[in-house]
Amino acid sequence: MQQLFIADYVYTQDAFEPKQAILVQDGIITEIGPEDRLSSRYPAAERILWSGKAIVPGTVNSHNHSFQSLLRGIAIDRPFLDWRDEALYKYTPLLDEEAIYTGALLAFGEMLRYGVTTVSDFFYVHNGGTEHDEAVIRAANDLGIRLVFARTLYDWSGAPVSYRETVDDAVKRTRDLAIKYQGNRMVTVHPAPHSPHAASPEMIKAGHRLAQELDTPFHIHVAEEMFEVEETLRDYGLRPVHYLDSLGVLDERMIAIHLVWLDDSEIELLGKRSCSLAYCPSSNMFLADGVTRIPDLLKSGVKITLGTDGACSNNRISVFEEMRMCSMLQKVTRLDGTCITAGQVYEMGTKRAGDILRMPIGVLEQGAYADFVALDIDDLSLAPKNELFANMVYAMQPGAISYVVVGGKVIVDNGKLTTVPERNIVHRVDSLFDKWSTV
Ligand SMILES: [Zn+2]
Repeated sequence: MQQLFIADYVYTQDAFEPKQAILVQDGIITEIGPEDRLSSRYPAAERILWSGKAIVPGTVNSHNHSFQSLLRGIAIDRPFLDWRDEALYKYTPLLDEEAIYTGALLAFGEMLRYGVTTVSDFFYVHNGGTEHDEAVIRAANDLGIRLVFARTLYDWSGAPVSYRETVDDAVKRTRDLAIKYQGNRMVTVHPAPHSPHAASPEMIKAGHRLAQELDTPFHIHVAEEMFEVEETLRDYGLRPVHYLDSLGVLDERMIAIHLVWLDDSEIELLGKRSCSLAYCPSSNMFLADGVTRIPDLLKSGVKITLGTDGACSNNRISVFEEMRMCSMLQKVTRLDGTCITAGQVYEMGTKRAGDILRMPIGVLEQGAYADFVALDIDDLSLAPKNELFANMVYAMQPGAISYVVVGGKVIVDNGKLTTVPERNIVHRVDSLFDKWSTV
């Protein structure tokens, strides 16, 4: 079936082109061009006419923990270890399959409303199997969001038992899951050894080997907090990036998350090894972690994308929001309004994520997945519209997001989810807390 999406503007080749149409076949963009030309060439295509709208690429949330949406608002404004004990560790034993599914519906449903069409979910509450993993995947499928399932490999003995696996179990389950979804355009599985503090050297090396075997990237938290630097210096005599290099895992497959506490030599090495970063500025601010040196990392050659992190450490989960936060945080930290641009942060939230995750996403061009967002160009937050690009990045509010399409399917229609009604999601969350209040 062919579809023709028609709007006042389409953002393609780094510019808003007027009176364009996007031709979609089986979830893939097959042509973009002037509306009158495509309309006469493809008269049988289903026409979806969006007047007063600008179509832009769907954004990519490169780091999230979906179940943490259930913990949003709990134990706020506390030191990290207090939050960990009173929110994360307290609720972890209550997270059964139903809760994991509900948390993922809440996270992914909310993100879709804000224009996220692909999410990388870093998931670690495996509970000794893959049933919980499948619950996250089911929620993504039921909603219609594209999912990179970053299956965590975790073996730190201090963590709740439901996070922990042996190296052999973690590798086998991750491999089996990855093979099961191979060739599925909506679900991709990547290995994700948790971090230098929560995964042993054997686990980190096993995660990297598995990524080589599956030919995928791998995800890992690195140097989010200062304590990790102290730990790797104490245990291995090396800072976190040098420690990972000593394990032989620092290469183009690595998608490091955070990278807050780095010295100059680590920044240089990350660039030399062609590593990538999933940067989560709001989370770093919310948790008072510190400020990642984004302009320096860009200069060294590190590829950078954006993530929201879990909803309980943000607490909004919009990639458009992260573009704005990234730019503002870097400018104020360096006292330099020119150190980063709207174009750079926009790219981080869209096409750069496609390069890093190795998927045809974040761009509107022939051959890319038909994942896009239609903005209401008459929304007050986008005015004046002669500066549409700058206003999309720095001023736009979620109310301007009218339609969201994933794989050619309209998932958000006039600001509402079409696949799972929002009141059902809220009702499921309420029921869960009713149940938990009696535990
Ligand atoms: Zn994280």
